[in-house]
Amino acid sequence: MKKKRRLLWQLYPSYLLITLISLVAVTIYATGSLREFYLDRIAGDLRARAYLLEKQILQFLGPLDTNIVDALCKELGKSSTTRITVILPSGTVIADSHDDPNRMDSHGLRPEVIQAKKGNVGKSIRFSTTLQQRMMYVAVPLSDHKRIVAVIRTSLPVTAIDEKLKSIETQIAFGGLLIALVAAGISLYVSRRISRPIEKMKEGAEHFARGDFLHRLPETDLEEIGGLADAMNQMAAQLDDRIKTIINQRNELEAVLSSMEEGVIAFDMDEQIISINQAAARIFESMPKDMLNRSIQEVIRNPELQQFVTQALSSTDNLEGDITLYREGERIIYLHSTSLRDSNSDQIGVLVVLNDVTRVRRLENIRRDFAANVSHEIKTPLTAIKGFVETLLYGSVKNPEEIERFHSIIEKHVNRLTAILEDLISLSRIEQDDEKKAIKLWKNPIKNVLQTAIGSCREQADLKEITIDYVCEENISALIDPPLLERALVNLLDNAIKYSEAESTIHVEAKQKNDEIILSVKDQGCGIGKEHLPRLFERFYRVDKARSRKLGGTGLGLAIVKHIAQAHEGRIHVESTPGKGSTFEIYLPSA
Ligand code: ADP
Repeated sequence: MKKKRRLLWQLYPSYLLITLISLVAVTIYATGSLREFYLDRIAGDLRARAYLLEKQILQFLGPLDTNIVDALCKELGKSSTTRITVILPSGTVIADSHDDPNRMDSHGLRPEVIQAKKGNVGKSIRFSTTLQQRMMYVAVPLSDHKRIVAVIRTSLPVTAIDEKLKSIETQIAFGGLLIALVAAGISLYVSRRISRPIEKMKEGAEHFARGDFLHRLPETDLEEIGGLADAMNQMAAQLDDRIKTIINQRNELEAVLSSMEEGVIAFDMDEQIISINQAAARIFESMPKDMLNRSIQEVIRNPELQQFVTQALSSTDNLEGDITLYREGERIIYLHSTSLRDSNSDQIGVLVVLNDVTRVRRLENIRRDFAANVSHEIKTPLTAIKGFVETLLYGSVKNPEEIERFHSIIEKHVNRLTAILEDLISLSRIEQDDEKKAIKLWKNPIKNVLQTAIGSCREQADLKEITIDYVCEENISALIDPPLLERALVNLLDNAIKYSEAESTIHVEAKQKNDEIILSVKDQGCGIGKEHLPRLFERFYRVDKARSRKLGGTGLGLAIVKHIAQAHEGRIHVESTPGKGSTFEIYLPSA
């Protein structure tokens, strides 16, 4: 990633650099101009002096008197620092204010002298070996009747100028440094003024990025940045609004999903769970958070469901079907799939709704079995009756004893049919009344009901010399419908007598345990195999069909007991050991 630098460090050095470059440029230009100005002035000065001498020297040149000229030069040179030299066109130095002309070499090739000999004012700055310092030379021609007879050269050392210029340069440099410092301060201030609101905006944007949309960027007097801050504040407000709306919608959706009885799972195209509600997770004995964003293969080890999801994802139609789960017994789950589509109607996954239909399916089976059983139970005695009646009608039986026997068989079947129909009618009435809440329960002592039920069965028990003893805690009462509860107890006692050997004992007990009242009928009869217990209370379910029929059972007794218990907001429970006996218990809420 490219290294990021702060805006301040982008702006500030460039301002500083521009200031410094400008200062250096101004200094160079100023000192250059100053030097030129000085040198021009000195050159002008030297030229003026040379012209001043022109007349005085000219008079001693024709005829030439070198000694006078030299003495004059020396005299004039004494009163000023200006060096005056007179050179003949041949280059011979005839006079010099600071030196002996006889010892001086030919000056004919000096640049200023060459210029002067051409009739111009010659000028040159160079190091003088004679005086051992840098000098400025100005040479003017001396003309007599338009003929150049000599060259007067005036010169001054420029070391002083150099020193003067150096001190000016130093002053300018100090001034420049001061200006640079002030400029640095100003540019730092300006840079900060530009960068600070931008930094504030950066901080604000970081707040927004963290999801803090209540933060607001401060106002600034910079138009562009102020406009940007306003726009960003508006954006934050809008985002806040939208996110709140989305969160509300999501919460509503979650509330709806989690309060649903049905399980709902959304899968993406990779069979990953993208949403799951509580009910669905419960079906698979897990938690939504443990299943979310994981693939179906990882968290739901059910090949039937995996196959269903795969098919649903590859199909455009809604699919449905049942799967069976084996947890705490068999559970049947009804599945229904719907495609999940995005705003472009492209499929992005599938939504599967899961319904636990174990009870519904079981009821369906029970109803189906019941219809078959009813037909069978009614048809059997009817067929028998029909057969005997026809035999009697068509007179093939003449023997009065035989006729008598046939009559009693017909009567037995009719009684059986009547018993079945009566039980069916009772059962459906109890069911209907219970559904309509038409069964009126009122507070009653249990003892009375128990005694009446035992009294009704006493005769039947006596026939088999069966003893019925009972224990009933005093003063226990419950909200009951006495005739109905009596009927339930009679059914249990009737069974206990029927399925017990002669001379055995039946214990009847009523007791209170916590906030429940338990009515139990315990016999020492044949008992019931464990495998029959879950279905014992279904209509027409019999452990031993032949025996039940022989004993006049309808197969509806226990179903009636169960419904009576339910109508009392109670339940029924059975425990039994084959060969030892059974205990049937009715649990009722105590009043
Ligand atoms: P039934 O009219 O055949 O007795 P129930 O519904 O009363 O019908 O009972 C269903 C079946 O449960 C009976 O057929 C019988 O096999 C069994 N059963 C009920 N009570 C007892 C009991 N006390 N001892 C042994 N088996 C019983």
